[in-house]
Amino acid sequence: MAGLFARFRKAPVPRPLEPGVMTIGLDQVPVQFRRHAQARRLVLRLSPDGSTVVVTVPPRVSRAEAMSFAEKSRDWVEKRLKAHGGGIALAPGNRIPLRGVLHEIRHVPARRGTVAVDATEALILVPGELPHLPRRLVDWMKTAARADLQLASRKYAALMDVTFKRITIRDQRSRWGSCSAGSELSYSWRLILTPPHVLDYVAAHEVAHLKHMNHGPRFWRLVLTHCPEAVAAKRWLKTHGHGVHRIRM
Ligand SMILES: [Zn+2]
Repeated sequence: MAGLFARFRKAPVPRPLEPGVMTIGLDQVPVQFRRHAQARRLVLRLSPDGSTVVVTVPPRVSRAEAMSFAEKSRDWVEKRLKAHGGGIALAPGNRIPLRGVLHEIRHVPARRGTVAVDATEALILVPGELPHLPRRLVDWMKTAARADLQLASRKYAALMDVTFKRITIRDQRSRWGSCSAGSELSYSWRLILTPPHVLDYVAAHEVAHLKHMNHGPRFWRLVLTHCPEAVAAKRWLKTHGHGVHRIRM
């Protein structure tokens, strides 16, 4: 999802370096590269929310060099991630933003059946044995994400007069959604943790790619015609998007 106003830029801006991913344990940690004209050496740090590795890259240092620098700092990154608290665990008592509203996770071993939501008390009730709680909760969130995204994708497909083959739900850290040339849509399950207008926008965005496989003016016109909240949703993702990646499985 490139910048909405990118084409209005006047001065030529150096092309941003493509982000990377480091696999640390079970985690896929995003790596961002920031080109800095005054930087004299490569500097690596963790973003304030602890979700992303940020590498400052001096001029004339390549992305490959910066990435291998990050790889060499893997032990440091791992230690810092741990020190940071490693995000929010899916454990009883912790709160997660279901459809953008904080809900407390409650373990209800005596309860039968599947995960349930108590909207009045803002609780997510998870039955079964405690060691299985994170897995059960994630499976349930993936199912919920699929249902919401299926609905939103169908809505926009009808509005934009396009068809798609199927949707896939993944845990990809680098993107919220994608659209393949074979008309298959794929989305991050973590969209169930964003406010409804954000999930809705991501569906509108990917469905619009079925018509325009680019981020040109015609693409954005199509998105904005059917999804006026796109601008607000993009802003939300930019500001808060990293937060939902703090939830660890
Ligand atoms: Zn896109």
